[in-house]
Amino acid sequence: PTPHIAVLGSANMDLVAYVAKAPQRGETVTGREFRTVPGGKGANQAVAAARAGATVSMIGAVGNDAHGARLRSALEHSGIETDLLRTVETPTGTAHIVVDDEGGNAIVVIPGANGTVTALAPGDEGLIASADALLLQLEVPVDGVLAAAQAARRHGVRTILTPAPAQPLPPELLAATDLLLPNEHEAAALTGITDDPRAAARALLSQVPEVVITLGSRGSLYASRDTEPVVVPARQVTAVDTTGAGDTFAGTLAVALAEGNSVPDALGWASSAAALSVQRPGASASMPYRKEIDKEATTETDAEIDAEPG
Ligand code: ATP
Repeated sequence: PTPHIAVLGSANMDLVAYVAKAPQRGETVTGREFRTVPGGKGANQAVAAARAGATVSMIGAVGNDAHGARLRSALEHSGIETDLLRTVETPTGTAHIVVDDEGGNAIVVIPGANGTVTALAPGDEGLIASADALLLQLEVPVDGVLAAAQAARRHGVRTILTPAPAQPLPPELLAATDLLLPNEHEAAALTGITDDPRAAARALLSQVPEVVITLGSRGSLYASRDTEPVVVPARQVTAVDTTGAGDTFAGTLAVALAEGNSVPDALGWASSAAALSVQRPGASASMPYRKEIDKEATTETDAEIDAEPG
């Protein structure tokens, strides 16, 4: 059966500037190109999961403005159900993104309408209860994230929390989280442990049962209370734009887990999806479809071929 993924989170209009080198403070640089692209970590994770083959429902809020209308129709165009995406009087959230020639990015987020998602609305809990997994991030107020996580917990629905942007997490939220999915910077911010993802993961396991720390081009680290930590290497590819790699990873990981795959297998599949996304420009625009992920996941990388005996 097709997995059903619920997402509670942000929907932003991404305002993306492409430059050779990002400006320093006080500096002005001339960029090459500007694009407006539907984004936000919530919407992006929703698109990643939908393209990966899930039925996806989005809970959140957009403004009563052109950005909001475009976001809603973009989500619907991706096949995402938006009945519980509210339209509010606060302007749609925006993300101001600078992408440099090395594929790195720097981002300022203005929450706008996302800031109104402080609690569940009628229908939200029923939707969460009917899902196989709930994807959460921190671009909406932590009270809203907490309410959703606790609703999922009441109904035995797996919660996957991307703790971004990094901020201290209330113990109640960690208590309602099944899988915590930080990148290495967020893991360091949460634990105070830098440059040692294994130690950071161990520290986080005192608060959540399962942790995956994404390590960019170095792959991802999985740790749980019952197993030794596992590192899943990243695919060896040339990155042109890493925006959205983490959201591609989260959305596709949720789908693979909801389909009953083991965590290491699911991580391998999510790594293939993320590797495809970093080879193309854009965030949601770069996200691969299920057929592409399956093909990439069954193609050996050069590193794997080199490692074979004989
Ligand atoms: P972003 O904020 O850019 O969306 P992130 O910081 O949340 O990303 P990362 O750890 O950078 O997350 O990347 C997530 C996953 O994407 C990694 O675990 C890896 O599997 C894949 N990935 C990221 N960068 C690369 C790369 N250069 N080559 C191959 N895979 C990559």
